[in-house]
Amino acid sequence: MPHKAACPCKYPGCVHTTHTGYCETHAHWYQPPERAVDTRPSAAARGYDQEWQAIRAAVLRDAGIPPELRPLYDVHHTPEYNPQIDPDHRHYTLTPLLHGEHSRETGVARGRGGKSLGNFSENRRCPTNFSAIKTGGKVKNG
Ligand SMILES: [Zn+2]
Repeated sequence: MPHKAACPCKYPGCVHTTHTGYCETHAHWYQPPERAVDTRPSAAARGYDQEWQAIRAAVLRDAGIPPELRPLYDVHHTPEYNPQIDPDHRHYTLTPLLHGEHSRETGVARGRGGKSLGNFSENRRCPTNFSAIKTGGKVKNG
C-alpha cells in the first residue's frame, strides 16, 4: 500500500505529523534553504531594537538575575526569532542563558559543528524507513 511514514511537526511542542517538516498549522515556519546564507540585516532591522532591549531586561529581571550579571546573559528565543513570521518577542518563549550556553544551544539546534544555517536541510531529514532503524541501517536499497 502506498504508505509513507509521517514525521513529527518541527514546531516545538507540536503533536501533529507531516510529510513536509511542518504541519499545516505551522507551515509558515518553514524556512526555505535559500535563507541559509547569512545575509542578515542589522540587529535593529531584525527586531532587536529598543523594545527588545526592554523585553530582554524584563526577562532577565524576572528570572532573578542580578543587574551586574545581566550583561553576561543572552535571551534565547524558542522557536528561533524570525521577525518576518512574528516580530513580537513576547509571542516567543524567552529563556535567559549565559552567552556560552546560548551559543551551544543554538549550535545544537542547527546541527552539530556549524554556525550557519547550512545544516538546516540535514536537520529536516527524518526517518521514513523505520525498519532501517531497527536493523541498524542494514536495509536493502531498491
Ligand atoms: Zn505543527
